[in-house]
Amino acid sequence: MVQVSKKIMPQKIMIVEDNELNLKLFTDLLRAHQFVVEGVKDGRLALEQAKMFAPDMVIMDIQLPHVSGLDLIEAMQKDADLAAIPVLAVTAYAGKGDEERIMAAGARGYLSKPVGMVKFLEAVRGVMG
Ligand code: MN
Repeated sequence: MVQVSKKIMPQKIMIVEDNELNLKLFTDLLRAHQFVVEGVKDGRLALEQAKMFAPDMVIMDIQLPHVSGLDLIEAMQKDADLAAIPVLAVTAYAGKGDEERIMAAGARGYLSKPVGMVKFLEAVRGVMG
C-alpha cells in the first residue's frame, strides 16, 4: 500500500482591521504560521474583497469607521457566496451583551483586544476547524 501524502493547501485568511498596527501584528503572526493573509483596512471594501480573495476564514474587527464589523458579519450571512466563510470577531470594547450580539450576527468566535498571540492562534485554529 502506497502512502499518499496529504496535499497541503495553504489556508487563506482575510483580516478586516482599520488599525494599521493591529493589522500588521495579526498579518505577521499568521504569515509566520504559514497562513496566506489578505488585509482590508476599509470595511466598505470587505465584501468585495472577500469575493475576490475567497478566504477560508475572516478575522473581523468590530469597531470600524464607515461600517461596523457587526453589520459586515450580517451582510456576509445574507450573501450566498460568503455565508459559509467562518468569522472570528475581534473587538476592543467588550460591553455587556456584545458577545451575544456578535455571535447572533453569525460569528463563529469572539476575542476581545488586547489579545495574546497564543490565544489568538488558538481562536483562529478553532474557528477554522
Ligand atoms: Mn477598529
